[in-house]
Amino acid sequence: MYILGLEGTAHTIGSSVVTDTGDVLSNISKTYQGKEGIHPREAANHHSSNILGIIKESIDVAGIEKDDIDVVSFSQGPGLGPCLRTTATAARSLSLSLDVPLVGVNHCIAHLEIGRLMTGAENPILLYVSGGNTQVIAFRKGRYRVFGETLDIGLGNMLDKFGREKGMTFPAGPVIEEKAKEGKKLIDLPYSVKGMDVEFSGIMTAALNEDATIEDLCFSLQETTFAMLTEVTERALAHIRKDEVLLGGGVVQNKRLQSMIKTMTEERGAEYYVPEAQYCVDNAAMIAWTGYIMYDAGISISVEESNIKQKFRTDEVEVSWR
Ligand code: AMP
Ligand code: MG
Repeated sequence: MYILGLEGTAHTIGSSVVTDTGDVLSNISKTYQGKEGIHPREAANHHSSNILGIIKESIDVAGIEKDDIDVVSFSQGPGLGPCLRTTATAARSLSLSLDVPLVGVNHCIAHLEIGRLMTGAENPILLYVSGGNTQVIAFRKGRYRVFGETLDIGLGNMLDKFGREKGMTFPAGPVIEEKAKEGKKLIDLPYSVKGMDVEFSGIMTAALNEDATIEDLCFSLQETTFAMLTEVTERALAHIRKDEVLLGGGVVQNKRLQSMIKTMTEERGAEYYVPEAQYCVDNAAMIAWTGYIMYDAGISISVEESNIKQKFRTDEVEVSWR
């Protein structure tokens, strides 16, 4: 069986073909590069001008014909309205023209499911840290529940905003990681953990107001925010008694964040998993694969029900496939 999945919640538009046995036959994407961060309309225009080519390429690279596709899935939310609408429109027309079922996928859940497929983690806590999202997610009582999350912005967005103020190229995350390696002094920044939740904008403002070298600022930003994420992940691990931690989202490519989480996980005697980069960032393979396991559990939607959900919550979805 072949499943074609479309991702398009934010800056990345992607198309992937996977099989029902979990082989990723193609995983094609293009990312909109905004100079001033992400402008939703411009990103959607970028997606609509690229989506057709990307779909065709994903079918070609998979080595199949379009009529071989059995299911179409798409990222239904959460995300930016104009981007979601563009992607959903393409998914609907594909499903109608091929006369195959349509599955709407929650983007955050897809990060967790592709991580399980790629790493062999069975029942992990996912620390999902991307541009727009920062969440600690785990399966409990039939749903993926959010055990902690950002109360303001995603960590990636914070790093990108900080970088923009400091004249760095976009995305700033990797630039900050490089500069942080040269940092020597830990500047005191407001460590903001509230229960299981975190906040980042106060830290950014404080860092921008500090008179320090850029290397020390980047180092201190990373140490402070990554320690916060490590703390809430550790607390979730203890509280819900899981023994696996999985990373997902673009920010988790950061080696310093990986090493902090790995150390904490090993000290607790738990397993640590991180998928390869192409499955950490926004990608369509995760939408195709999650679309398949949902379809296999009997889930699909009609075109009439396929409206996008900008604020699609992780725990809204009844996880009948587990
Ligand atoms: P995503 O939204 O999951 O596609 O991830 C994009 C975000 O990841 C952007 O905000 C980037 O700045 C951030 N990012 C990418 N690489 C790194 C890195 N090495 N360290 C920190 N952040 C990163
Ligand atoms: Mg994402």
